[in-house]
Amino acid sequence: MALIVQKFGGTSVGTVERIQQVAAKVKKFRENGDDIVVVVSAMSGETNRLIDLANQVTDGQPVGRELDVMLSTGEQVTIALLSMALIKLGVPTVSYTGSQVRILTDSAHTKARILQIDDQKLRADLKAGRVVVVAGFQGVDEHGNITTLGRGGSDTTGVALAAALKADECQIYTDVDGVYTTDPRVVPQARRLEKITFEEMLEMASLGSKVLQIRSVEFAGKYNVPLRVLHSFQEGPGTLITLDEEESMEQPIISGIAFNRDEAKLTIRGVPDTPGVAFKILGPVSAANIEVDMIVQNVSHDNTTDFTFTVHRNDYANALEILRATAENIGAREAGGDFNIAKVSIVGVGMRSHAGVASRMFEALAKENINIQMISTSEIKVSVVIEEKYLELAVRALHTAFELDAPDRQGD
Ligand code: ASP
Ligand code: MG
Repeated sequence: MALIVQKFGGTSVGTVERIQQVAAKVKKFRENGDDIVVVVSAMSGETNRLIDLANQVTDGQPVGRELDVMLSTGEQVTIALLSMALIKLGVPTVSYTGSQVRILTDSAHTKARILQIDDQKLRADLKAGRVVVVAGFQGVDEHGNITTLGRGGSDTTGVALAAALKADECQIYTDVDGVYTTDPRVVPQARRLEKITFEEMLEMASLGSKVLQIRSVEFAGKYNVPLRVLHSFQEGPGTLITLDEEESMEQPIISGIAFNRDEAKLTIRGVPDTPGVAFKILGPVSAANIEVDMIVQNVSHDNTTDFTFTVHRNDYANALEILRATAENIGAREAGGDFNIAKVSIVGVGMRSHAGVASRMFEALAKENINIQMISTSEIKVSVVIEEKYLELAVRALHTAFELDAPDRQGD
């Protein structure tokens, strides 16, 4: 008998029929003898609808505390409906809001962090044979204020409950059947991964594969909670996300190709190459709360150098203005930028034990005549910046070069 936390996202509980289907599914697990805690999101579209209402009343400036009071109602509706559906099927159940469980958070409204979970009530209910249904995305601070955990936060609720209860697995049910080697809309030969490590998943998620809230993956990694992504209404093993890094013959070096069109590149040229210059360039950028991703400083010629970095596209205009001012201040030749870029990354823990992975990547891109503008590497990732119009070609070429294409479709 296992203890399983199952989280169902907004589309999986988006209609009354779907809630009934989820109830039937939970009932089946229950009949297998497993203890089940279910975490649900608000019905799809509901959180957006509520935010929109708040914006109308406040000209887009809702106070965090009051926004959280309202946003938490989305999930409160779903827990009640799911419990009713379970009771109708004869399954003993009880629903709780985050505050009723006592999911204690800090007081950072709309982006609160979980500090502690009281598991007593839940354990007593499970022992009494009840399915426990918990509202995702919400908690309560030490003063009794309702808080929410940030968009997509129900994933984190699921993982946190699984950690607190030492569950055997946290299952995230969603509208895809697992984590893929890359976006199947770009590469039809993309494959569902049987397994991926927390570290790899974090890289994939932070690079734009939006299956899970990033924070939930960090949490799962920290507390070593096995996470499984599954389709809500199709049978299948999904993708298991674990700590495990076993090497096997079939284990590919690269697990996936991630990409991101959300960045823009800024360059300052003819910078006097003196100590402290990187700080003079990036200091004002970070003071404006703009996050910098990749950074490259060229070898200097005639005591001047070029310096290039990337930021989120939304920050591009702002960063360019700052950089132009910096160029004047430090006597650089010019500042400019380009947002027609994309970042492509190969991700895999297998890289640690295999040399030549980066050069294989560069070779594949060279064969397609794709120019690399910037490169950065970490232990389990190599990223390049290329011109945006070559993004899809690059992803496809890399997917093939690293032998990720689904076997039956290979060579299509
Ligand atoms: N309902 C919240 C949202 O839409 C939380 C979640 O679904 O995970 O972001
Ligand atoms: Mg979600």
